[in-house]
Amino acid sequence: MGETMKLPLVFDAPTRGKPPRHFADLDDDARSAAITELGLPAFRGKQLANHYFGRLTADAHAMTDLPAAMREQVAGALFPPLLKVVRAIECDGAQTRKTLWRAVDGTTIESVLMRYPNRSTLCLSSQAGCGMACPFCATGQGGLTRNLSTAEILEQVRAAAAVMRDQHDGRLSNIVFMGMGEPLANYNRVLAAVKRIIAPPPHGFGISARSVTVSTVGVAPAIRKLADERLGVTLALSLHAPDDELRDTLVPVNNRWNVGEALDAARYYADVTGRRVSIEYALIRDVNDQPWRGDLLGKKLHGALGPLVHVNVIPLNPTPGSEWDASPKPVEREFVKRVRERGVSCTVRDTRGREIAAACGQLAAEG
Ligand code: SAH
Repeated sequence: MGETMKLPLVFDAPTRGKPPRHFADLDDDARSAAITELGLPAFRGKQLANHYFGRLTADAHAMTDLPAAMREQVAGALFPPLLKVVRAIECDGAQTRKTLWRAVDGTTIESVLMRYPNRSTLCLSSQAGCGMACPFCATGQGGLTRNLSTAEILEQVRAAAAVMRDQHDGRLSNIVFMGMGEPLANYNRVLAAVKRIIAPPPHGFGISARSVTVSTVGVAPAIRKLADERLGVTLALSLHAPDDELRDTLVPVNNRWNVGEALDAARYYADVTGRRVSIEYALIRDVNDQPWRGDLLGKKLHGALGPLVHVNVIPLNPTPGSEWDASPKPVEREFVKRVRERGVSCTVRDTRGREIAAACGQLAAEG
């Protein structure tokens, strides 16, 4: 984040357990520098990028077009193993797969791969834990452990793309930053990861920018900054309440950037990028599901964003130990109706992975 941005302490994730430098951390310039440092000719950099982003290989020993001695050198210097699979579990007829990963320092994180008839979506983590403390979210209950490095984020993508290619004869088409963590509180590393995700091979994985969604609690200055990067990725704003009184409790960062400020920033994002902003709204029985709140939500969104908005209602996934639950279906239907009556498009999100604790807000890694 820029030096001028004053952010609360919660954004300063501990730096201990910093993962080793990896090929995927490097942008094009840093990559050239690293290749030179190793005493290798420049074309080797492009070769490595082809392996990593094109062939989805992070094992230098398998890069057989490199001389054997060079493979050893490159493996040690640029491809330290960053994430090991601890457990992978499937549900929804094997359409949903949750992976628990362990990083070099023992930190655990999760990602979820969801397959649909015409697309496949990876829900990935940007931090180990989360400092935003939203009371309905399992990750929020555990606090923040640390930021993930760019390469740790990209390794989740590479692994999912390899699963799609090798096991399903398909490709990974969509990425959502909706796993563990607040992506905009790990701004620089997330930005570098997004750039690599959308760059065409061999510079990146070549996933279409509009198929990448960055989801945030509403860090207003970072939303504006992301807009100015003009990457064309989709922004999702986790609103969960149209009024400050309730949002102060559901999304504690609202005390810093309130509903109005978050919506102003979202408007800026929509104006600069021309892209429709998604509003996430976890519907919680008797907490934020009143018809009048549906009216107010529709009114405020229509006023702030006009046609450049879509509301995703997410039936609350109850987390262990919480007394909160999803709203009954008739209440949900009425809420959606109220939002739509204000001229705002609104749908209910299909939730995957409930029985393996892989649904929205259920990611809370255990070793
Ligand atoms: N920090 C980012 C990403 C979080 S996860 C953000 O807040 O946007 C993605 C979405 O899942 C967020 O909208 C989050 O509020 C929502 N979510 C968290 N816990 C949930 C739960 N228990 N049920 C339904 N949605 C939940």
